[in-house]
Amino acid sequence: MKLKHTRSEAAFERAQQLIPGGVNSPARAFGGVGGCPVFISRGERQYLFDIDGNRYLDYVGSWGPHILGHRHPVVVAAIQQALATGTSFGAPTESESVLAELVIAAVPSIEKVRMVSSGTEATMSALRVARGFTGRDVIIKFAGCYHGHVDSLLVQAGSGALTLGTPSSPGVPVGCTRDTLVLEYNDVEGLAAAFKQRGNELAALILEPVVGNMGVVIPTPEFLQACRDLCTQYGTVLIFDEVMTGFRISYGGAQAHFGVTPDMTTLGKIVGGGLPVGAYGGRADIMNTVSPVGPVYQAGTLSGNPLAMACGIATLETLKKTNPYAELERKTANLCEGLSQICRVKGIPHTVPHVGSMFTLFFNSEPVTNYQVSARNDTARFARYFHGLLERGIYLPCSQFEANFVGVEHTDENIEQTLASAEAVLGEITGI
Ligand code: PMP
Repeated sequence: MKLKHTRSEAAFERAQQLIPGGVNSPARAFGGVGGCPVFISRGERQYLFDIDGNRYLDYVGSWGPHILGHRHPVVVAAIQQALATGTSFGAPTESESVLAELVIAAVPSIEKVRMVSSGTEATMSALRVARGFTGRDVIIKFAGCYHGHVDSLLVQAGSGALTLGTPSSPGVPVGCTRDTLVLEYNDVEGLAAAFKQRGNELAALILEPVVGNMGVVIPTPEFLQACRDLCTQYGTVLIFDEVMTGFRISYGGAQAHFGVTPDMTTLGKIVGGGLPVGAYGGRADIMNTVSPVGPVYQAGTLSGNPLAMACGIATLETLKKTNPYAELERKTANLCEGLSQICRVKGIPHTVPHVGSMFTLFFNSEPVTNYQVSARNDTARFARYFHGLLERGIYLPCSQFEANFVGVEHTDENIEQTLASAEAVLGEITGI
Protein backbone atom coordinates (compact mmCIF):
# COMPACT_ATOMS: atom_id res chain seq x y z
CA MET A 1 0.00 0.00 0.00
CA LYS A 2 1.48 3.29 -1.09
CA LEU A 3 0.85 6.44 0.95
CA LYS A 4 -0.92 9.25 -0.83
CA HIS A 5 1.03 12.49 -1.12
CA THR A 6 -1.18 14.43 -3.53
CA ARG A 7 -1.72 17.41 -1.27
CA SER A 8 1.95 17.64 -0.33
CA GLU A 9 2.84 17.56 -4.02
CA ALA A 10 0.45 20.42 -4.76
CA ALA A 11 1.69 22.40 -1.75
CA PHE A 12 5.29 21.89 -2.86
CA GLU A 13 4.46 23.07 -6.41
CA ARG A 14 2.96 26.24 -5.00
CA ALA A 15 5.75 26.83 -2.47
CA GLN A 16 8.42 26.47 -5.17
CA GLN A 17 6.86 29.37 -7.08
CA LEU A 18 7.12 31.57 -4.01
CA ILE A 19 10.04 30.46 -1.87
CA PRO A 20 13.49 29.36 -3.12
CA GLY A 21 13.24 25.58 -3.42
CA GLY A 22 9.86 25.76 -1.69
CA VAL A 23 11.46 25.72 1.75
CA ASN A 24 12.64 28.21 4.32
CA SER A 25 15.66 26.07 5.24
CA PRO A 26 17.42 23.85 2.68
CA ALA A 27 17.73 20.72 4.84
CA ARG A 28 13.94 20.25 4.58
CA ALA A 29 13.86 19.97 0.80
CA PHE A 30 14.65 16.22 0.44
CA GLY A 31 17.69 17.34 -1.60
CA GLY A 32 19.77 14.39 -0.48
CA VAL A 33 17.11 11.75 -1.13
CA GLY A 34 14.98 13.15 -3.96
CA GLY A 35 11.20 13.36 -4.12
CA CYS A 36 8.64 15.68 -2.63
CA PRO A 37 8.91 16.78 1.01
CA VAL A 38 5.82 15.98 3.05
CA PHE A 39 4.00 19.06 4.28
CA ILE A 40 3.06 18.84 7.92
CA SER A 41 -0.30 19.80 9.37
CA ARG A 42 0.37 19.00 13.02
CA GLY A 43 2.48 17.17 15.56
CA GLU A 44 1.29 15.16 18.55
CA ARG A 45 3.72 13.53 20.99
CA GLN A 46 6.04 11.29 18.93
CA TYR A 47 4.01 11.63 15.74
CA LEU A 48 3.78 14.02 12.79
CA PHE A 49 0.70 14.23 10.55
CA ASP A 50 0.96 15.46 6.97
CA ILE A 51 -1.67 17.38 5.01
CA ASP A 52 -2.70 14.17 3.21
CA GLY A 53 -3.62 12.68 6.59
CA ASN A 54 -0.64 10.29 6.87
CA ARG A 55 0.88 9.69 10.29
CA TYR A 56 4.64 9.34 10.84
CA LEU A 57 6.73 8.28 13.79
CA ASP A 58 9.08 11.26 14.07
CA TYR A 59 12.85 10.83 14.47
CA VAL A 60 13.58 14.44 13.46
CA GLY A 61 11.87 16.31 16.29
CA SER A 62 12.16 19.60 14.37
CA TRP A 63 15.90 18.79 13.99
CA GLY A 64 16.43 18.49 17.72
CA PRO A 65 14.24 20.72 19.90
CA HIS A 66 11.40 18.25 20.56
CA ILE A 67 13.06 15.93 23.04
CA LEU A 68 9.72 16.00 24.94
CA GLY A 69 7.68 15.30 21.81
CA HIS A 70 5.20 17.59 20.11
CA ARG A 71 2.74 19.62 22.15
CA HIS A 72 3.88 18.48 25.57
CA PRO A 73 1.05 19.63 27.88
CA VAL A 74 3.33 21.51 30.30
CA VAL A 75 4.97 23.35 27.40
CA VAL A 76 1.66 24.19 25.72
CA ALA A 77 0.24 25.53 29.01
CA ALA A 78 3.31 27.69 29.60
CA ILE A 79 3.10 29.25 26.13
CA GLN A 80 -0.63 29.88 26.55
CA GLN A 81 -0.05 31.55 29.88
CA ALA A 82 2.66 33.79 28.45
CA LEU A 83 0.52 34.60 25.42
CA ALA A 84 -2.21 35.97 27.68
CA THR A 85 0.18 38.74 28.74
CA GLY A 86 1.50 39.75 25.30
CA THR A 87 3.98 38.58 22.68
CA SER A 88 6.92 40.99 22.88
CA PHE A 89 7.77 44.13 24.81
CA GLY A 90 11.32 45.11 23.87
CA ALA A 91 11.90 45.59 27.58
CA PRO A 92 13.26 43.20 30.22
CA THR A 93 11.02 40.52 31.70
CA GLU A 94 11.66 38.29 34.70
CA SER A 95 11.28 35.18 32.57
CA GLU A 96 14.66 35.94 30.94
CA SER A 97 16.38 35.55 34.30
CA VAL A 98 14.45 32.36 35.05
CA LEU A 99 15.72 30.73 31.85
CA ALA A 100 19.23 32.16 32.39
CA GLU A 101 19.30 30.66 35.88
CA LEU A 102 18.24 27.26 34.57
CA VAL A 103 20.94 27.37 31.86
CA ILE A 104 23.67 28.51 34.24
CA ALA A 105 22.79 25.82 36.77
CA ALA A 106 22.81 23.12 34.07
CA VAL A 107 25.80 23.90 31.86
CA PRO A 108 29.18 23.71 33.64
CA SER A 109 30.96 26.36 31.54
CA ILE A 110 28.25 29.01 31.69
CA GLU A 111 28.47 31.69 34.38
CA LYS A 112 26.65 34.32 32.35
CA VAL A 113 24.43 33.89 29.34
CA ARG A 114 22.84 36.01 26.60
CA MET A 115 19.68 34.91 24.77
CA VAL A 116 19.39 35.28 21.00
CA SER A 117 16.89 33.88 18.48
CA SER A 118 18.78 31.11 16.62
CA GLY A 119 21.79 28.84 16.82
CA THR A 120 23.42 30.83 14.02
CA GLU A 121 23.17 34.02 16.03
CA ALA A 122 24.62 32.23 19.03
CA THR A 123 27.75 31.02 17.23
CA MET A 124 28.20 34.29 15.35
CA SER A 125 28.01 36.23 18.60
CA ALA A 126 30.25 33.85 20.52
CA LEU A 127 32.96 34.23 17.89
CA ARG A 128 32.73 38.00 18.04
CA VAL A 129 33.03 37.93 21.82
CA ALA A 130 35.99 35.54 21.69
CA ARG A 131 37.70 37.84 19.20
CA GLY A 132 36.90 40.93 21.26
CA PHE A 133 38.10 39.27 24.43
CA THR A 134 41.39 38.01 23.02
CA GLY A 135 42.09 40.83 20.58
CA ARG A 136 42.89 38.15 17.99
CA ASP A 137 41.19 37.28 14.67
CA VAL A 138 41.98 33.71 13.64
CA ILE A 139 39.65 30.84 14.44
CA ILE A 140 39.74 27.07 14.01
CA LYS A 141 36.77 24.99 12.94
CA PHE A 142 36.61 21.35 11.87
CA ALA A 143 35.55 20.06 8.47
CA GLY A 144 32.00 18.69 8.54
CA CYS A 145 30.98 20.61 11.65
CA TYR A 146 28.05 22.95 11.04
CA HIS A 147 27.69 26.04 13.17
CA GLY A 148 24.89 27.81 11.34
CA HIS A 149 25.21 30.00 8.25
CA VAL A 150 27.69 32.48 9.73
CA ASP A 151 29.98 33.75 6.92
CA SER A 152 33.24 32.85 8.59
CA LEU A 153 31.97 29.39 9.58
CA LEU A 154 30.44 28.39 6.26
CA VAL A 155 33.64 26.69 5.19
CA GLN A 156 33.55 22.93 4.68
CA ALA A 157 30.36 22.94 6.72
CA GLY A 158 28.12 19.95 7.42
CA SER A 159 24.35 19.35 7.48
CA GLY A 160 22.37 20.78 4.54
CA ALA A 161 25.52 22.36 3.12
CA LEU A 162 27.16 18.94 2.96
CA THR A 163 24.02 17.20 1.67
CA LEU A 164 23.58 19.70 -1.14
CA GLY A 165 27.26 19.67 -2.08
CA THR A 166 27.94 23.28 -1.18
CA PRO A 167 29.94 22.97 1.99
CA SER A 168 31.49 26.34 1.19
CA SER A 169 29.01 28.91 -0.07
CA PRO A 170 29.28 31.48 -2.87
CA GLY A 171 28.48 34.91 -1.50
CA VAL A 172 30.88 34.60 1.40
CA PRO A 173 33.69 37.12 0.79
CA VAL A 174 37.16 35.61 0.83
CA GLY A 175 38.03 38.13 3.52
CA CYS A 176 35.45 36.56 5.84
CA THR A 177 37.04 33.12 5.68
CA ARG A 178 40.69 34.19 5.48
CA ASP A 179 40.92 33.94 9.25
CA THR A 180 39.21 30.53 9.46
CA LEU A 181 41.50 27.50 9.66
CA VAL A 182 39.74 24.25 8.83
CA LEU A 183 41.13 21.08 10.38
CA GLU A 184 40.10 17.42 10.45
CA TYR A 185 37.94 16.29 13.39
CA ASN A 186 39.61 13.86 15.83
CA ASP A 187 43.09 14.69 14.47
CA VAL A 188 45.12 15.55 17.57
CA GLU A 189 48.40 15.87 15.68
CA GLY A 190 46.97 18.25 13.10
CA LEU A 191 45.48 20.35 15.86
CA ALA A 192 48.73 20.50 17.83
CA ALA A 193 50.64 21.48 14.67
CA ALA A 194 48.18 24.31 13.92
CA PHE A 195 48.52 25.67 17.45
CA LYS A 196 52.28 25.42 17.26
CA GLN A 197 52.27 27.44 14.06
CA ARG A 198 49.49 29.97 14.73
CA GLY A 199 48.62 29.56 18.44
CA ASN A 200 49.31 33.16 19.39
CA GLU A 201 46.93 34.42 16.68
CA LEU A 202 44.07 32.11 17.62
CA ALA A 203 41.00 33.80 19.13
CA ALA A 204 38.80 30.71 19.25
CA LEU A 205 38.50 27.03 18.57
CA ILE A 206 34.88 26.07 17.88
CA LEU A 207 33.58 22.53 17.60
CA GLU A 208 30.56 20.30 17.97
CA PRO A 209 31.62 18.22 20.99
CA VAL A 210 29.66 15.35 19.44
CA VAL A 211 29.12 16.06 15.76
CA GLY A 212 25.56 15.76 14.53
CA ASN A 213 25.99 17.55 11.23
CA MET A 214 27.97 14.99 9.24
CA GLY A 215 25.88 12.28 10.85
CA VAL A 216 26.84 11.41 14.40
CA VAL A 217 30.61 11.46 14.87
CA ILE A 218 31.97 10.81 18.34
CA PRO A 219 35.09 12.60 19.60
CA THR A 220 37.92 10.54 21.03
CA PRO A 221 38.64 11.43 24.66
CA GLU A 222 42.19 12.48 23.65
CA PHE A 223 40.81 14.81 21.02
CA LEU A 224 38.48 16.71 23.38
CA GLN A 225 41.21 16.90 26.00
CA ALA A 226 43.72 18.19 23.42
CA CYS A 227 41.24 20.92 22.41
CA ARG A 228 40.96 21.94 26.06
CA ASP A 229 44.70 21.78 26.82
CA LEU A 230 45.89 23.62 23.71
CA CYS A 231 43.35 26.41 24.19
CA THR A 232 44.46 26.82 27.81
CA GLN A 233 48.11 26.84 26.79
CA TYR A 234 47.69 29.46 24.07
CA GLY A 235 44.99 31.64 25.66
CA THR A 236 42.49 30.68 22.95
CA VAL A 237 38.78 30.62 23.79
CA LEU A 238 37.40 27.08 23.54
CA ILE A 239 33.80 27.17 22.30
CA PHE A 240 31.62 24.09 22.44
CA ASP A 241 28.78 24.47 19.97
CA GLU A 242 26.11 22.61 21.92
CA VAL A 243 23.19 23.87 19.83
CA MET A 244 22.37 20.22 19.13
CA THR A 245 23.95 18.41 22.10
CA GLY A 246 22.85 20.84 24.83
CA PHE A 247 20.15 19.28 27.07
CA ARG A 248 20.19 16.36 24.59
CA ILE A 249 23.17 14.16 25.47
CA SER A 250 22.68 14.95 29.13
CA TYR A 251 20.98 17.79 30.97
CA GLY A 252 24.38 19.55 31.13
CA GLY A 253 25.15 18.72 27.49
CA ALA A 254 28.27 17.09 26.06
CA GLN A 255 30.54 18.97 28.47
CA ALA A 256 28.84 17.39 31.49
CA HIS A 257 28.81 14.00 29.74
CA PHE A 258 32.54 14.03 28.90
CA GLY A 259 33.77 16.12 31.84
CA VAL A 260 35.58 18.62 29.60
CA THR A 261 34.65 22.24 30.26
CA PRO A 262 35.01 24.83 27.49
CA ASP A 263 35.32 28.59 28.02
CA MET A 264 32.15 29.38 26.09
CA THR A 265 29.11 27.41 24.96
CA THR A 266 26.47 28.02 22.32
CA LEU A 267 22.96 26.63 22.67
CA GLY A 268 19.80 26.45 20.56
CA LYS A 269 17.09 23.91 19.77
CA ILE A 270 16.07 22.32 23.14
CA VAL A 271 16.80 25.51 25.11
CA GLY A 272 13.84 27.05 23.26
CA GLY A 273 11.69 23.90 23.30
CA GLY A 274 10.55 24.50 19.71
CA LEU A 275 10.31 28.29 19.64
CA PRO A 276 13.15 30.39 18.17
CA VAL A 277 15.82 30.62 20.87
CA GLY A 278 19.58 30.47 20.86
CA ALA A 279 21.96 31.35 23.66
CA TYR A 280 25.64 31.91 24.19
CA GLY A 281 27.42 32.03 27.48
CA GLY A 282 30.58 31.23 29.32
CA ARG A 283 33.06 32.48 31.85
CA ALA A 284 31.91 35.72 33.46
CA ASP A 285 35.14 37.56 32.56
CA ILE A 286 34.58 36.73 28.89
CA MET A 287 30.84 37.49 28.91
CA ASN A 288 31.46 40.82 30.65
CA THR A 289 32.97 42.09 27.39
CA VAL A 290 29.44 42.05 25.88
CA SER A 291 27.52 45.31 25.44
CA PRO A 292 26.25 47.18 27.46
CA VAL A 293 28.80 46.10 30.15
CA GLY A 294 31.66 45.86 27.68
CA PRO A 295 32.45 47.05 24.16
CA VAL A 296 31.51 43.97 22.09
CA TYR A 297 28.20 44.81 20.42
CA GLN A 298 25.41 42.27 20.08
CA ALA A 299 21.66 42.88 20.16
CA GLY A 300 18.23 41.60 19.07
CA THR A 301 14.71 43.09 18.85
CA LEU A 302 13.09 39.77 19.76
CA SER A 303 15.89 38.35 21.95
CA GLY A 304 14.53 36.96 25.20
CA ASN A 305 11.05 36.90 23.67
CA PRO A 306 8.52 36.10 26.42
CA LEU A 307 6.77 33.27 24.56
CA ALA A 308 10.10 31.68 23.70
CA MET A 309 11.33 32.07 27.27
CA ALA A 310 8.18 30.42 28.64
CA CYS A 311 8.58 27.53 26.20
CA GLY A 312 12.27 27.09 27.09
CA ILE A 313 11.62 27.28 30.83
CA ALA A 314 8.82 24.69 30.69
CA THR A 315 11.02 22.39 28.59
CA LEU A 316 14.08 22.61 30.83
CA GLU A 317 12.09 22.34 34.05
CA THR A 318 10.36 19.22 32.73
CA LEU A 319 13.70 17.69 31.72
CA LYS A 320 15.21 18.56 35.09
CA LYS A 321 12.30 17.07 36.98
CA THR A 322 11.87 13.91 34.96
CA ASN A 323 15.55 13.25 34.15
CA PRO A 324 14.81 11.03 31.12
CA TYR A 325 18.41 10.63 29.99
CA ALA A 326 19.13 7.06 31.11
CA GLU A 327 15.86 5.92 29.59
CA LEU A 328 16.58 7.77 26.33
CA GLU A 329 20.00 6.15 26.17
CA ARG A 330 18.51 2.69 26.76
CA LYS A 331 15.92 3.06 24.01
CA THR A 332 18.44 4.49 21.56
CA ALA A 333 20.98 1.75 22.30
CA ASN A 334 18.28 -0.89 21.65
CA LEU A 335 17.37 0.71 18.36
CA CYS A 336 20.99 1.04 17.22
CA GLU A 337 21.83 -2.51 18.23
CA GLY A 338 18.75 -3.78 16.40
CA LEU A 339 19.63 -1.84 13.24
CA SER A 340 23.17 -3.15 13.40
CA GLN A 341 21.99 -6.72 13.73
CA ILE A 342 19.63 -6.39 10.76
CA CYS A 343 22.46 -5.00 8.63
CA ARG A 344 24.83 -7.77 9.75
CA VAL A 345 22.37 -10.50 8.79
CA LYS A 346 21.83 -8.91 5.39
CA GLY A 347 25.54 -8.31 4.79
CA ILE A 348 25.13 -4.53 4.57
CA PRO A 349 28.25 -2.48 5.37
CA HIS A 350 27.21 -0.21 8.21
CA THR A 351 28.05 1.50 11.46
CA VAL A 352 25.52 2.97 13.93
CA PRO A 353 27.19 5.40 16.34
CA HIS A 354 25.06 6.92 19.06
CA VAL A 355 25.59 9.12 22.09
CA GLY A 356 22.58 9.45 24.36
CA SER A 357 19.56 9.87 22.11
CA MET A 358 21.45 11.00 18.96
CA PHE A 359 22.31 8.37 16.36
CA THR A 360 23.04 7.81 12.69
CA LEU A 361 22.90 4.62 10.62
CA PHE A 362 25.79 5.05 8.17
CA PHE A 363 25.94 2.75 5.16
CA ASN A 364 29.68 2.42 5.51
CA SER A 365 31.57 -0.13 7.58
CA GLU A 366 34.47 2.13 8.58
CA PRO A 367 34.16 3.87 11.93
CA VAL A 368 33.16 7.42 10.99
CA THR A 369 35.70 9.62 12.73
CA ASN A 370 35.74 12.65 10.46
CA TYR A 371 34.41 14.39 7.37
CA GLN A 372 36.46 12.42 4.87
CA VAL A 373 35.14 9.09 6.11
CA SER A 374 31.60 10.43 6.44
CA ALA A 375 31.69 11.61 2.82
CA ARG A 376 32.39 8.03 1.64
CA ASN A 377 28.88 6.84 2.50
CA ASP A 378 26.49 5.04 0.19
CA THR A 379 24.03 7.92 -0.14
CA ALA A 380 22.06 6.15 -2.89
CA ARG A 381 21.34 3.29 -0.50
CA PHE A 382 20.41 5.82 2.17
CA ALA A 383 17.88 7.45 -0.19
CA ARG A 384 16.15 4.10 -0.78
CA TYR A 385 16.18 3.35 2.94
CA PHE A 386 14.75 6.78 3.74
CA HIS A 387 11.88 6.51 1.24
CA GLY A 388 11.14 2.93 2.25
CA LEU A 389 10.69 3.99 5.86
CA LEU A 390 8.72 7.10 4.94
CA GLU A 391 6.25 4.88 3.06
CA ARG A 392 5.94 2.80 6.23
CA GLY A 393 5.11 5.86 8.32
CA ILE A 394 8.57 6.54 9.77
CA TYR A 395 10.02 10.00 9.35
CA LEU A 396 13.84 10.20 9.38
CA PRO A 397 16.09 13.18 8.64
CA CYS A 398 16.21 13.36 4.85
CA SER A 399 19.99 13.07 4.61
CA GLN A 400 22.70 10.60 5.53
CA PHE A 401 24.63 13.49 7.08
CA GLU A 402 22.26 14.24 9.94
CA ALA A 403 21.59 13.00 13.44
CA ASN A 404 18.38 11.09 14.23
CA PHE A 405 16.72 11.83 17.55
CA VAL A 406 14.85 9.61 19.97
CA GLY A 407 12.52 11.45 22.35
CA VAL A 408 10.84 10.70 25.64
CA GLU A 409 7.56 9.81 23.89
CA HIS A 410 9.10 7.05 21.75
CA THR A 411 7.92 3.78 23.25
CA ASP A 412 9.60 0.37 23.20
CA GLU A 413 6.83 -0.64 20.85
CA ASN A 414 7.76 2.24 18.52
CA ILE A 415 11.38 1.02 18.54
CA GLU A 416 10.26 -2.53 17.70
CA GLN A 417 8.03 -1.22 14.94
CA THR A 418 10.93 0.83 13.52
CA LEU A 419 13.18 -2.23 13.52
CA ALA A 420 10.56 -4.35 11.78
CA SER A 421 10.12 -1.66 9.13
CA ALA A 422 13.88 -1.23 8.70
CA GLU A 423 14.23 -4.98 8.26
CA ALA A 424 11.55 -5.03 5.58
CA VAL A 425 13.03 -2.04 3.72
CA LEU A 426 16.60 -3.31 3.85
CA GLY A 427 15.30 -6.71 2.78
CA GLU A 428 13.73 -5.13 -0.31
CA ILE A 429 16.95 -3.26 -1.07
CA THR A 430 19.25 -6.28 -0.75
CA GLY A 431 16.84 -9.07 -1.70
CA ILE A 432 17.92 -10.84 1.50
N1 PMP B 1 25.21 24.74 15.50
C1 PMP B 1 24.84 23.46 15.42
C2 PMP B 1 25.68 22.42 16.06
C3 PMP B 1 23.66 23.11 14.75
O1 PMP B 1 23.30 21.82 14.68
C4 PMP B 1 22.88 24.14 14.17
C5 PMP B 1 21.59 23.84 13.42
N2 PMP B 1 21.34 22.57 13.06
C6 PMP B 1 23.32 25.46 14.28
C7 PMP B 1 24.48 25.73 14.96
C8 PMP B 1 22.53 26.60 13.69
O2 PMP B 1 21.35 26.77 14.38
P1 PMP B 1 20.10 27.53 13.68
O3 PMP B 1 19.66 26.63 12.57
O4 PMP B 1 19.10 27.65 14.78
O5 PMP B 1 20.60 28.84 13.21
